[in-house]
Amino acid sequence: MATRAEMAVEEQRGEVSVRASGESQRGYNRGVPGDTGVQGQGGEARTRMEPMIEIRKLNLKYGEKLALEDISLDILKHQVTAFIGPSGCGKTTLLRCLNRLNDLVDGVTITGTIRIGGTDINDPNLEITELRKRVGMVFQKSNPFPKTIYDNVAYGPRIQGLPRRSAMDEIVERSLRSAALWDEVRDRLQESALSLSGGQQQRLCIARAIAVEPDVLLMDEPCSALDPIATAKIEELMADLKKQYTIVIVTHNMQQAARVSDYTAFLYLGTLIEYDLTKQIFVNPSKKQTEDYITGRFG
Ligand code: ADP
Ligand code: MG
Repeated sequence: MATRAEMAVEEQRGEVSVRASGESQRGYNRGVPGDTGVQGQGGEARTRMEPMIEIRKLNLKYGEKLALEDISLDILKHQVTAFIGPSGCGKTTLLRCLNRLNDLVDGVTITGTIRIGGTDINDPNLEITELRKRVGMVFQKSNPFPKTIYDNVAYGPRIQGLPRRSAMDEIVERSLRSAALWDEVRDRLQESALSLSGGQQQRLCIARAIAVEPDVLLMDEPCSALDPIATAKIEELMADLKKQYTIVIVTHNMQQAARVSDYTAFLYLGTLIEYDLTKQIFVNPSKKQTEDYITGRFG
């Protein structure tokens, strides 16, 4: 695992480290474009790992305030990528760009491109519902609907017009199993989701998000309201989930980033300072700001 992942990393210091290969598997055949700010080095592909999400020259302003500046990075399929950085550095803003949640904010201006699975998510022909189907989100504060456990999980598939009752039962069970919650709730599916503990509610939200089988799972500080045991459960779960999904997690907890993620992006004041294999970031960061942050000198 580490060796394959290491191949994905630019040996050279500085700039964004992860490379996309020109490998074609799902209808796109592209290396890293020359004008992305992600400079090619020696021309050879560094990795066979495919990017799931390609962010290029992303800028975001809230009114006059620049919250993200010239962000370019590739997020690789079936990896856990963590966004870290001090409060207010733009982690949530960047995460929310990936399913266009910032569109709803007044006075927001966004430039640059984001491709997910090769599709430009700002393409006017792309239905927002189609995007949300492919990109699930779990929020900081668990937010189950005031419905039964079953109906929370069935919610997305139902909206999509799915399916017969028996098929729905299967989806609900599969999603709850994937979220490591099935054994705890199998006998109480018709009880209110609000009767669950905080940690169970958060796993229910994960089950709800994956019930529609998205490609990408976004998590914004998913454990920050949870106790250590519930946190450990979710962290454990992530190692399983990444076999099926591409996971992006925002966390202010650096130990958590180090434990759960394969890659880490360090943001500071709206810019991407460093992006690399997690172990590289934590053991041998190449930027002084990264080192200062992870050693607790600020933030
Ligand atoms: P983080 O998640 O890293 O703590 P955020 O992405 O929430 O940071 O915020 C980045 C910056 O953008 C902060 O300065 C924050 O105050 C500002 N910001 C976030 N959301 C909004 C909003 N809806 N309107 C105006 N400014 C915002
Ligand atoms: Mg945040």
